[in-house]
Amino acid sequence: MVARMVIGLVLTVAAFAVAGRRLWWLQRLALSGQPAPERIAYAREHAPVELKTQLTEVVGQRKLLKWSVPGAAHAATFWGFIILLLTIIEAYGALFARDFAIPGIGRSAALGFIEDLFAVGVLAGIATFTVIRLRNDPHREGRRSRFFGSHTRAAWVVLGMIFGVIATLLIYRGAQENTGVFPYRDAGAWPFASWVVGKWLHPLGYGVNSVLEATFILGQIGVIMAFLVVVAYSKHLHIGLAPLNVMFSRRPDALGPLPPMRSGGKMLDFEEADPDTDVFGMGKIEEFSWKGLLDMGTCTECGRCQSQCPAWITDKPLSPKQLILDLRDHAFAKAPYLLADEPARESLPADVLAEAARPLVGKADVNGVIDPEVLWACTNCGACVNECPVDIEHIDHINGMRRHQVLVESAFPQEAQGMLNNLERKGNPWGMPEMKRAEWIGEMDFEIPVIDGVIPADVEYLYWVGCAGALEDRAKKAVKATAQLLHAAGVTFAVLGPAEACTGDPARRLGNEFVYTMLAQQNIETLNEAGVAAGTGKKVIASCPHCFNTIAREYPQLGGDYEVIHHTQLLSRLVADGRLTPVNEVNEKVTYHDPCFLGRHNKVYEQPRHVIASVPGVQAEEMHRCKGKGFCCGAGGARMWLEERTGSRINDNRVDEALALDPDSITTGCPYCMVMLGDAVNAKKAAGQAKETLEVIDVSQLLVRAIQLREQAPASE
Ligand code: SF4
Ligand code: SF4
Repeated sequence: MVARMVIGLVLTVAAFAVAGRRLWWLQRLALSGQPAPERIAYAREHAPVELKTQLTEVVGQRKLLKWSVPGAAHAATFWGFIILLLTIIEAYGALFARDFAIPGIGRSAALGFIEDLFAVGVLAGIATFTVIRLRNDPHREGRRSRFFGSHTRAAWVVLGMIFGVIATLLIYRGAQENTGVFPYRDAGAWPFASWVVGKWLHPLGYGVNSVLEATFILGQIGVIMAFLVVVAYSKHLHIGLAPLNVMFSRRPDALGPLPPMRSGGKMLDFEEADPDTDVFGMGKIEEFSWKGLLDMGTCTECGRCQSQCPAWITDKPLSPKQLILDLRDHAFAKAPYLLADEPARESLPADVLAEAARPLVGKADVNGVIDPEVLWACTNCGACVNECPVDIEHIDHINGMRRHQVLVESAFPQEAQGMLNNLERKGNPWGMPEMKRAEWIGEMDFEIPVIDGVIPADVEYLYWVGCAGALEDRAKKAVKATAQLLHAAGVTFAVLGPAEACTGDPARRLGNEFVYTMLAQQNIETLNEAGVAAGTGKKVIASCPHCFNTIAREYPQLGGDYEVIHHTQLLSRLVADGRLTPVNEVNEKVTYHDPCFLGRHNKVYEQPRHVIASVPGVQAEEMHRCKGKGFCCGAGGARMWLEERTGSRINDNRVDEALALDPDSITTGCPYCMVMLGDAVNAKKAAGQAKETLEVIDVSQLLVRAIQLREQAPASE
């Protein structure tokens, strides 16, 4: 007994010392990042929200269970280990007393059964993981495997260790049955797995079972302690870090608005900011906040993000997983430099100094950590953030690095320069004259008031048309259809006409926070002067999901608060209230493409579908990738203004999926999507791969065909 106790305790102390040293190092590394006081303040002020999130995301495994088979396997393993904490107590107790039982509950048949049930559940979980990993072997599947780029060897080691934990547990319990010290010896076969193992071992006799009992109790403690060390030094760090990372993540998620720029934890004011002393985006690993560094340490390498990323799927070099792993590897390799004081840095090994000198963003010739092509391939579609089971905030990191590249290095794809110049000079990405914004109004056959100063008292909505809606021919049709429907429903609305400017979304998503702020402040002033701020009773209709997201969720960061509704939401309500009654049959097969900034970023999935479903005769069919798993059109993240030179085209990929349904129309609710999908459809038509009659239209254009309009006007033509 004494030897058993001494060995067990020595193993434990040694493992805690090694793992503790690593955890101490990790927390010092995380704290070398920028402060993020807003994360702590939010968690402190919203304790019930955080508690609920821990219960649903961590305990309930909500996001993991969205993928049913691997989710169930992970849940079985996770919950198994929670329950098996009790068996760890029992193993340690058995170091001091052979027949130790947890006081109060430790001899009940129910606990014996539950422990064995979860032990078997863990075995089933790791068997499932084994099959999943074999079927998705990156060596065979290449980029199609979500484990491509992950540290697969470490994953196999950990699966082996988990098996070791359960195997040693069941063997020592079985042996205990035969030596008469099993705490559940009076429970019969309720601890069923231990009972079965006990039956197998019984022929070996008391002596051998005594040796097995002692050996496998120590084996159990040894494997668990080794596991503790491996966890601290591997990707399985997420076991400890995931609850923390989830607790300090943005709520409700890291989609929708981009966070404002911060330096030293304070919001950056461009009037006072100094690029020599302030942090302008992320230009070095230590310019990420501690939450960013925590993200890097928490990544489980599951590859769910990678499997959904439109850039990765179309053979671009960007994988959101690989990006996080590259940042993590760099942070760990640079850590000795970051944690050393100035004089000590000079005497660091050459490889550490070389790592410290690597540019964060740069091509292979300058040994950059992140290739610029990776950085600029992101469409900000949000699929990665939506998938990530541990709430990693990929878009924030990508845009943080873009901000530095644009604002400090002036290094960004040059084809975007024209768009930025146009935004600065003309307030729209195409550089069209301001007066052109009002042209569509004159093409309508009813009056649309243009706000001159303050919105009229009897007008309920300000219709924010957006640059594409006012200036791009295809998007203009959607705007006209919406206006016609509003008019038909008796909704009072007015527009800003030439006084409207780009919301700044393309500049912000490109990383040019300066141009974004300039445009945003100008628009906030215009909207406030128009008297449509929140609380006035007036509302804003946005025809573009990017405008919708920016005005509703980003302008509040600059003091602009508005009640904003997307046009598909309003149309859905008007149909539901009977103010619009679709009566004309539209005998078409229709599929709906979810715009990322309406769907994933703002969770508007149902209303556009309600509108489509309300149209008589329409046969609506979903593409496989829809709603939360919708596939990007390729235009977000300012990609609308960048060339797509590598891999296949994202819009082609999406249209191919639609064509498999042979629809008559592809509907959507975003002008960017209309342009991107429309271009892909035109290319398919030219190649003879799509029927000539196939259209890409806005939901409003479909609805307008089904409405008996008060005044006959071909709005969607
Ligand atoms: S936001 Fe979309 S494109 Fe960008 S990394 Fe994530 S999944 Fe890929
Ligand atoms: S970032 Fe999230 S989804 Fe992607 S591999 Fe890491 S844990 Fe998985």
